[in-house]
Amino acid sequence: MIETLLPILYLVASVTFIIGLKMLGSPKSARKGNLIAGFGMCLAIAGTILFHTDSAGTHLHNIPLILGGIAVGTIIGWMMAVKVKMTAMPQMVSFFNGMGGACAALISLMEYKETGSVSAGHGAATMAGLIIGSISFSGSIIAYVKLEERMGDIRFTGQQLVNNGLLLAVLIVGACLALSALTGFPLALLLTAGALLFGVLFVLPIGGADMPVVISLLNSFTGVAAACGGFLYNNMPMLIGGILVGSAGTLLTVVMCKSMNRSIWNVLLGNFSAQGAASGATEGATGTVREVSATDAAVLMAYAKTVVIVPGYGLAVAQAQHACHQLENELEEKGVTVKYAVHPVAGRMPGHMNVLLAEADVSYDKLVEMEEINPEFPTTDVVLVVGANDVVNPAAKTDTASPIYGMPILDVELAKQVIVMKRSMKAGYAGIENELFYRPNTSMLFGDAKTSMSALVAEIKLI
Ligand code: NDP
Repeated sequence: MIETLLPILYLVASVTFIIGLKMLGSPKSARKGNLIAGFGMCLAIAGTILFHTDSAGTHLHNIPLILGGIAVGTIIGWMMAVKVKMTAMPQMVSFFNGMGGACAALISLMEYKETGSVSAGHGAATMAGLIIGSISFSGSIIAYVKLEERMGDIRFTGQQLVNNGLLLAVLIVGACLALSALTGFPLALLLTAGALLFGVLFVLPIGGADMPVVISLLNSFTGVAAACGGFLYNNMPMLIGGILVGSAGTLLTVVMCKSMNRSIWNVLLGNFSAQGAASGATEGATGTVREVSATDAAVLMAYAKTVVIVPGYGLAVAQAQHACHQLENELEEKGVTVKYAVHPVAGRMPGHMNVLLAEADVSYDKLVEMEEINPEFPTTDVVLVVGANDVVNPAAKTDTASPIYGMPILDVELAKQVIVMKRSMKAGYAGIENELFYRPNTSMLFGDAKTSMSALVAEIKLI
C-alpha cells in the first residue's frame, strides 16, 4: 500500500505543476496557479520524507538534517519574499534561480561521488546537470549583482575567445568523465570550478538590451539541470518540474531574442552586444528641452482623441500604476480613447509591466504589444511616457554605436505630441542619452511619476 502511495503523490504533484504553469499565463489566475504548484511541491517533499525507500527497503535516515535544511530555507525565503520591494523582484528571481542551479549541480556532484559514471546515459545526465547547474548558479549571481546596479558591463580583449575556449574545455572534460575515459572526484570538482567560472565570464559583458535574454536563458538552464537530477533519481516531479521550467525558459528566450532582434546562436555562443561593444559608447544627445506643467499636460490630454500610455521601469519605482489607472478612467470619461503600449523588455523582468498594470486592475485588452501599436503612433494625439527611457530611445534605430542598436523600440516620436514623465535627464538601464527628449514634439514633465500622475488626475478632474 505504502509503495503505491508515493508514486500517486508524485503524480498529483506533477499535475499541479502543469496546472500551475498554465494558470501563470494570465495575471488573473497567476496567484492561484502559484499556490497550487507550491502545494504540489509540498506534497512531493512530504511524500519523499515519509515514504521514500531505497532498493533495500530502507527509509531516509537523515530526517533531522533534511527538516533542519527545509526550516532554514523556508525562513530565509519567506523573509526575503516578505521584505522585497516590487522593484527588486527581478534581482530576487535571479537569486532564487541561481539557488535552483546550485542544488541541481550539487545533486550531480554527489551522485558522481557516490556512483561515478554507471553508464554513458547516466554519466551524461550527471555531467549535464553538473555543468548546466553550475553555469546557471554563478551566471545568475552575476545577473543579480548587475540588476542591483552594483556592477557594470565588463569586457576585455579576446573575451569571446577565452569564453568559448573555456566552454569547450568544460564540455570535453565533462564528456570524458561521462564516458569514464577520465575518472576521479577531484576532476569532477575541477570541472565544477570551470563551469562556475564560465558562468561568471558569460554574464560579465552583458548589459542593456541583452540582459532580459540572458535572464530567461539562465532560467531555462536551471530547469534543464533540475530535469537531469530527476532523470538520475528517477524522480517524476523533479523531472517534470525541470522539463516545464526548461522548456518555458527556452521558449521565453526565443521570444525575447525575436523581440530584441538578436540571433539565438549569438546568445548561445556568448556573442552579446558585439555591435555596441565594438564601436564604443553612443554619442551624447543635445538640443533644447521643453518642460510642461501638469496643468498644460492635462489640457493636452483631455482634448485629445487618442492617448497612448507607455509604462517603463520608473512606473514600477514610483508605484504609479494605480494613479495611472485613475488617469485612464478620467480621460475615458471625457471621451478620450486610452491604450497602453507595452514593450517586451520594459521594466526589469519579462512581463513586469503586465504584472504592475494588472495589479491596478487595468483591463488586459487595453494593453497593446509593440508590433501592433507601432503603426498607430503617427495618428496618436498624445503619448504619455511614464518612467520609460531605453524602450523609446530612437538611437536603437539610427545609432550603430549604441549598445541598444538593433533593439526594436516603441516609435513614440512619430506621435503628434509626446509627454515624458521622469525625475531628471538621467539615462535609463543601458546608460545612454535619449534624443527623444530633445525633439520638438516632446515635452518633459519632471518629477516622481506617482506625484506627477496624481497632479494630472487632479487637473483633468477640473477640466
Ligand atoms: P529604463 O531603465 O530605460 O528607464 C527608466 C527611467 O525611469 C529612468 O530614465 C528614470 O529616469 C525613470 N525613473 C526612475 N524612477 C522614477 C520615478 N520614481 N518617477 C519617474 N521616473 C522615474 O526603463 P525602460 O523600461 O524604458 O527599459 C528597460 C531597460 O531595462 C532596458 O534597457 C532593458 O533591456 C533592461 N532590462 C530589462 C529586463 C526585462 O526583463 N524587462 C531585465 C533586465 C534589464 P530619472 O532617474 O530621471 O527619473
